[in-house]
Amino acid sequence: MSIQTNTPISTRKDLRIWYNDGNVVIIAEDVAFRVHQSILSSNSDVFRDLFQVPQPPTPSDGDTFEGFPAVHSHDKSCDMAEFLAVLYGGSQSFSPAVLYSLPKLIAVARLSHKYQCEDLLAAALSRLQDVFPTKFASWCTSTLNAPESGPAACERPRLAHVISAINLYRYIGRNDILPVAFYFCALVDPLDLINGVSTPEIGTIERLSPSDLAQCIRLRTALGIRWTHCLHYAVKTGHDHDNETEKGRVCKIAMEYLLQSAEETFDDVGCGYGLLRNWKSSLPVGVIDQCFGNFTTIWSVTQKELWGDLPELCGLGEINGWSE
Ligand SMILES: [Zn+2]
Repeated sequence: MSIQTNTPISTRKDLRIWYNDGNVVIIAEDVAFRVHQSILSSNSDVFRDLFQVPQPPTPSDGDTFEGFPAVHSHDKSCDMAEFLAVLYGGSQSFSPAVLYSLPKLIAVARLSHKYQCEDLLAAALSRLQDVFPTKFASWCTSTLNAPESGPAACERPRLAHVISAINLYRYIGRNDILPVAFYFCALVDPLDLINGVSTPEIGTIERLSPSDLAQCIRLRTALGIRWTHCLHYAVKTGHDHDNETEKGRVCKIAMEYLLQSAEETFDDVGCGYGLLRNWKSSLPVGVIDQCFGNFTTIWSVTQKELWGDLPELCGLGEINGWSE
């Protein structure tokens, strides 16, 4: 970021963030934002330091935009627009009543960190935890856990945004959202992780770092092993009565069928590896209520065990606030 760079001739104003009494113009890509030095300085140490640097007495044309000092940033204009909108909106910008998309939250968090706006960063990270929970109870109802098809599927975050979130948290040096973000990535086609995926908004390709890609593949393997183990244990322990009666024999066969059909869907990444997903099947034909109840109870216990182990399985060690 600098105050002395040539302004592209094609630069256009962002009319949403163009204050007529503003006294500085921020230029990102080919978009100009007219804002106030005092607002930026009071929220950001980086801007405060920048504006304290003495400027030449006679600025050249390239240093100004319509006569105002121009600050050129290397950020994307769409990210800068979101960042400035939230900066001017104050604490109300992130109130629970305001809907905020994942890419916008990520953009605001990234720029808040870059420009050292600590309050804004904390508010954005708090909202990000709603998407990437650190508690199992929150995970069960999170959009990240929504099915890939059906009415709730449209709320499901896109892979490109989850990868952006992982890269953001690596950039800012935090790890609290990473277990569920890695878990999400471990369930997708690995080729998408290797090739990267484009964001629907601006078409940039989002990729994991090589070490995070390796971590997702390791996690995928670990989930597969757990899935097999948990399934066999839950079926074996859930069917807890003698097999001498007709009802008992039918239940045993039905439970074995449940195991077989679950094993056959093992390669379906949304199912087999999705150990933390809700068990969607209703009572299978022939299975005694008590046995199916035992099975689902055991299943939920194993899910919680996996949740507790997830940070370690992701190679992240202990995470503050990670709990049931
Ligand atoms: Zn049974």
